[in-house]
Amino acid sequence: MRSTVLYGPRDVRFEERETPTIERPTDAVIRIAATCVCGSDLWPYRGIKPVNEPTPMGHEYCGVVEEVGREVKSARPGQFVIGSFATSDNTCPNCQYGYQSSCMHREFISRAQAPILRVPLADGTLVPTPGVPSDDLVPSLLATSDVLGTGWFAADAANVKPGSTVVVVGDGAVGLCGVLSARQMGAERIIAMSGHENRQKLAREFGATDIVTERGDEGVKRIMDMTKGIGADSVLECVGTQQSMMQAINSTRRGGYTSFVGMPHGVELKGEELFYTHVHLHGGPAPVRRYLPKLIDLVLNGTINPGKIFDLTLPLEKVAEGYRAMDERRAIKTLLRP
Ligand SMILES: [Zn+2]
Ligand SMILES: [Zn+2]
Repeated sequence: MRSTVLYGPRDVRFEERETPTIERPTDAVIRIAATCVCGSDLWPYRGIKPVNEPTPMGHEYCGVVEEVGREVKSARPGQFVIGSFATSDNTCPNCQYGYQSSCMHREFISRAQAPILRVPLADGTLVPTPGVPSDDLVPSLLATSDVLGTGWFAADAANVKPGSTVVVVGDGAVGLCGVLSARQMGAERIIAMSGHENRQKLAREFGATDIVTERGDEGVKRIMDMTKGIGADSVLECVGTQQSMMQAINSTRRGGYTSFVGMPHGVELKGEELFYTHVHLHGGPAPVRRYLPKLIDLVLNGTINPGKIFDLTLPLEKVAEGYRAMDERRAIKTLLRP
């Protein structure tokens, strides 16, 4: 089969690779219905995270099970399934606490921008839909695999409750899904920080009540003005830079919650500065598996349509253009169809 390999900065190739097969008795092999490019794929693409060898790419996926190993009990060939970017047994203590992305047997999926994918720990990782969903639902189901699951975790970790005032830092696909999630959790006021018109529009569609275009200290000042100098109950950090992290913490009210789901790059927190903020901090790789059953339900019953974040759809073999479009911010998120 041909699949996606990153060779170095801005060098994405779609090339012949070995087709995955069952390696361990707990594996499943699935035929990908749709996959996509993640904001986090852009860190190595841009050379910010070094690429030392040709690296197969992709960790967001859904599709139909082709084959399972002999110890797999719940996943069955023919089922349509969605899984997280982190595999999990769903039984170890970390999984039981709801942190499946820290499963003691975790592996990270990294070859999903391909027609066929091997998924380890299939029983604990994959969630089947009831029947094979219609094609128009596939983008939204794919979104649950990471971007929505991560946005949902951001809102949950920031303790969003009915009536909350919420700030979302970052207008990438995860931030936009954070807005959608905060809306579902009953937030009263959702302030999206975004300087881009098409993203502001989608943020509003997903439930944002206010838009703030300023960033950094200016952005914090605007949030303070809007909250009578108090700050927001819940702030979702969905970028991963020093500026966005401090913007998030400093926009949070005393006793409020800052979640951080943007992969940190060069972020450093000073203990004493943090000490006086009085904020709860909670973040990390989203335990998407915890939320998958609920998110799949919300998509299937038509409550949410997170698939709208995909504003570019390409055949998988055009994957390099998919990266380029996101890198140049011509696309929010690229969906790829094998
Ligand atoms: Zn991702
Ligand atoms: Zn586990």
